[in-house]
Amino acid sequence: MVAETSTPVPDQPLPMEWWDSVLADPRAAGKPWLPIEQRRLSELPREVLRVECLRCFRVVEIQKADAIRLCGPHAVWKDVGQRLLDNGCQQRTGRRHEEDGCWPNWTR
Ligand SMILES: [Zn+2]
Repeated sequence: MVAETSTPVPDQPLPMEWWDSVLADPRAAGKPWLPIEQRRLSELPREVLRVECLRCFRVVEIQKADAIRLCGPHAVWKDVGQRLLDNGCQQRTGRRHEEDGCWPNWTR
């Protein structure tokens, strides 16, 4: 059994009151600013995404379109970029998590 929490979408046009409440929502005026690494791929304002590793100094670049094709538009760039770096990381110590793997440097 999967708990269904959202109400089903009615099969009719949304009432005007609904649109009024949406447009009156302060969040509709402007999205809150998020650091680039916390944004979803579809929200990133550039076509080429770039991340550097502060430990092994590799730079990984990927076209946004490719990243979306691989991971989907709702993937968070931080997760995608970390995975890209980890694929070729030379800094695997096998010790504590903080000492292992790449340290991404999100270029703005
Ligand atoms: Zn690295």
